[in-house]
Amino acid sequence: MRRIILLMSVLLVGFMGLMSAGGTAEAAFHDRAQDMAKITGIRVGKADGNVRIVVDSDRPVSYRQSVLANPTRVVIDVQDAWIASGVKRAVTIDSSLVSAVRIAQFNPTTVRIVVETSVGKGGYNVFSLGGGKPRIVMDFGKAPGGIKTTPLPAQRPQPSGSDGGEEDARQQGDDDTLDRDISKIIGLKGRKIAIDPGHGGSDSGAIGPTGVMEKNVTIRVSRELKRLLEAEGATVILTRTGDTEVSPKGANATSVEELEARCEIANRANADIFISVHADAFTNREVKGTTAYYYTKGSAQSKRLADSVRTALIDSIGTLDRGTQTSNFYVVKHTDMPAILVEISFISNADEERMMNSEAGVKKIARGIADGIADYFG
Ligand SMILES: [Zn+2]
Repeated sequence: MRRIILLMSVLLVGFMGLMSAGGTAEAAFHDRAQDMAKITGIRVGKADGNVRIVVDSDRPVSYRQSVLANPTRVVIDVQDAWIASGVKRAVTIDSSLVSAVRIAQFNPTTVRIVVETSVGKGGYNVFSLGGGKPRIVMDFGKAPGGIKTTPLPAQRPQPSGSDGGEEDARQQGDDDTLDRDISKIIGLKGRKIAIDPGHGGSDSGAIGPTGVMEKNVTIRVSRELKRLLEAEGATVILTRTGDTEVSPKGANATSVEELEARCEIANRANADIFISVHADAFTNREVKGTTAYYYTKGSAQSKRLADSVRTALIDSIGTLDRGTQTSNFYVVKHTDMPAILVEISFISNADEERMMNSEAGVKKIARGIADGIADYFG
């Protein structure tokens, strides 16, 4: 316990030193940062029961590794490096091998990565890769793809980039295979997300009391949502980007052909999830609120996605909660991945029409849906 407190104090002092440095020091940091590696992301993957942690940087780095006991922690100190804003500082991992990874600016020139693990000295392997995507890779457990798990000697600074020579080239090849094997990457980075702005072109969707068209709300929300998700490293596929039909037959397509075209885009792209964005409507203009739908015979993941998006969206826009419902909507039935349809709120209700048509409303809606997606991926 005392050691943990000591470690925390050291970290705290390090941070305070950084934060209290003020203007001139900030300028000095900026100059110094030119020569330092920027840590741009941390990714965690699980495959075949093994855990892989990847720390991305903008250039090859040198690091030292050590092991602390009680509890067991593998510590990687990356030299001459700083952490870019937006990098997740702590990730909890649902694995018997590794429970968490944290990253912190240990001192002005050192980034410290701490991995809480249950594996002994022979059970993990750390190496760095140069090339187009410089990164430090930490494998825990028996690594898939046949990489030797013999640990490198502790405390030895590791060469990186082209200095790695032949060995580096060999690991690069293996690593590309391993990257594909990672089945669970935590966070939005690397996710492929299909967003379907409901209606479009000759199909205006529902129309509000003052004439706001559903097709315009859904495209505005979807464009903003795309921007937010891409900023967090996701790949986003929109089924339409303009005020058009999706089917090549355009306005001549039947409604099934039109919806089929939307599913086809998501299925062909092999998207991780599919979200169709709509606004609700009812003859009684008092009715309001937010609903998320998934296919009646849909998967538990689809339900979880619907719940996550609905909850986060309502947190963001404060609408009445109409719950997660099942349905046979074509787009949630004929998509191969976890799929939902979200009815943001009622365009037939004057207040909700106004909210969905406002710039602030569109931003809040997109933020809410994006947060829900992030929650879903954990
Ligand atoms: Zn609709």
